[in-house]
Amino acid sequence: MGVITKKIKGTEDVLPKQSYRWQFIEEIMRDEAKSFGFKEIRTPVFEHTELFRRGVGETTDVVQKEMYTFETKGKESVTLRPEGTAGAARAVLEHALVNEGLPIKAYYLTSCYRYEKPQAGRLREFHQFGIEEYGTSSPLADAEVIALADSIFKRLRIENLHLEINSIGCPECRPKFHKALKEYFEGRKSELCDTCLTRLDKNPMRILDCKSPVCSKIAENAPSILDYLCDECSDHFEAVKSYLDTVGIEFKVNPKIVRGLDYYTKTVFEFVSDAIGSQGTVCGGGRYDGLIEELGGQHLPSLGYAMGLERLLMVMENQGIEIPEPEPCAVYIAGLGENAQRKAFELISEVRKSGLSAETDVVGRGLRAQMKYADKIGARFSMVIGDNELAENKANVKNMTTGEQTELPLDKSFAEKFTALSLAASFGESSL
Ligand code: ATP
Ligand code: MG
Repeated sequence: MGVITKKIKGTEDVLPKQSYRWQFIEEIMRDEAKSFGFKEIRTPVFEHTELFRRGVGETTDVVQKEMYTFETKGKESVTLRPEGTAGAARAVLEHALVNEGLPIKAYYLTSCYRYEKPQAGRLREFHQFGIEEYGTSSPLADAEVIALADSIFKRLRIENLHLEINSIGCPECRPKFHKALKEYFEGRKSELCDTCLTRLDKNPMRILDCKSPVCSKIAENAPSILDYLCDECSDHFEAVKSYLDTVGIEFKVNPKIVRGLDYYTKTVFEFVSDAIGSQGTVCGGGRYDGLIEELGGQHLPSLGYAMGLERLLMVMENQGIEIPEPEPCAVYIAGLGENAQRKAFELISEVRKSGLSAETDVVGRGLRAQMKYADKIGARFSMVIGDNELAENKANVKNMTTGEQTELPLDKSFAEKFTALSLAASFGESSL
């Protein structure tokens, strides 16, 4: 196949037959976000490269290896967003949203781009739902954002996800932990993978996150951050845990969770599934009290997370969760001959206005082929208009499931009468 008929490696198409699955989860996300008081933010797909360097962090895998960065004709370096937080934070600063009152609560549903090795659950273009809450240092906010993710998963009826939380401290207490970690890993230096060797100097905490079996084995006995937290971080962590208890959200403390991005402080968490293999992290996030300052703004304690839509759909499929298919076409009206066709077009437009879906022939098929099409799209009713029906100004509409026929007038009252018939039929079906 030629280059124009082949998609780029690591990207996926969502075809018309599957898009309802995406729409279903997106709708639940929007709806839950709304009930928690979050409003949507939309930011550009590309930003100045420097924003991600600063916002995501120089030492992260994302910045070091995964960004789609290019020079524009104007000789500017721009990058396709690898995640949603940096762009949202930039917008909050640029539009001085702090002046409109705190906290600022925003969510996004967006595509992200990372140059990674494509595999199941790991794409180069993928989609995230994310939450950002700016201007609060209260542990209640940490519990609130986690509760939002939890309600989304509950509404999606996902069962095999568990929440793991940790605190990675703050600039006050983390340096002591870094020192202890460095000493520990220095002693096992010869066994570490190449990536972790570079992490040893710049960010030893990231070694705890290494997916290589050797490094993760070594990490098992590494010092725990929880022994190094300052009073403030420790109190914060205790409070987050107790608020989660208050609303009945189960969690496990996992001191190995460090998250991949540099801007995190205090609480970090992941929702992990055992069901989809090594790409099991469906949602990850935490607190980033230093991010806004890092981008040139004031000190504005904030937090958030992102969940991957592709991974979520994988988990749901794995669990056999059925996503309700969209309502099929309510009525297919075939018109035989130019005048009848015009009548069919007029009638379906009235039915559509009343909120039901209706179709007629738009490709010039014969009657048999039209009926085959009506069957294929799962039309619940069908109707044929010919010269006789036109002359008598009435026609039989047929219930495709029961075969039952009902005569309806082809006048202004058609849409109303059809709607009533269709409603009665679905009522009958649901009470069977
Ligand atoms: P991982 O450790 O799996 O690489 P990450 O720490 O890089 O994940 P984040 O940057 O925290 O992931 O992104 C949040 C979520 O976005 C992830 O939990 C995952 O569900 C999803 N995600 C991240 N990268 C990809 C990708 N390349 N393809 C599909 N989903 C992704
Ligand atoms: Mg990653």
